[in-house]
Amino acid sequence: MDCIFCKIVEGILPSRKVYEDEEIVAFHDIEPLAPVHLLVIPKRHIPSLEAATAEDAELLGRLMLAAQRVAREAGLADKGYRVATNTGPDAGQLVFHLHLHVLGGDKLGNPVSRIQHD
Ligand code: AMP
Ligand code: ZN
Repeated sequence: MDCIFCKIVEGILPSRKVYEDEEIVAFHDIEPLAPVHLLVIPKRHIPSLEAATAEDAELLGRLMLAAQRVAREAGLADKGYRVATNTGPDAGQLVFHLHLHVLGGDKLGNPVSRIQHD
């Protein structure tokens, strides 16, 4: 499948991994928008939050807890961090493999999207 995050899961593309278990991988975003910018993804290809179903409820919960874990390990627990998932074109989703952005290390004034809205 032509999906860069599936290729990261399979080890075909390199990544700076910070966490991995049977269902989830977390790694550094290649173009960080904050001093700490991590991505938490399911190993299984789910295109976006919009494609998730009730059967994914446990996995979605585990993704949030993995986000908490990598944020803590990055030293963000005290000052705080943002967890966000861009869903679809208006949110500026670029990679259609579900991922949580974990952002922190500075005051977060700006939205996660790289797309500039007027
Ligand atoms: P989104 O707009 O939520 O789909 O964001 C996709 C994110 O994936 C962006 O922040 C990119 O910088 C990041 N990204 C794209 N390719 C890679 C890669 N090979 N390794 C790590 N992060 C990536
Ligand atoms: Zn994928």
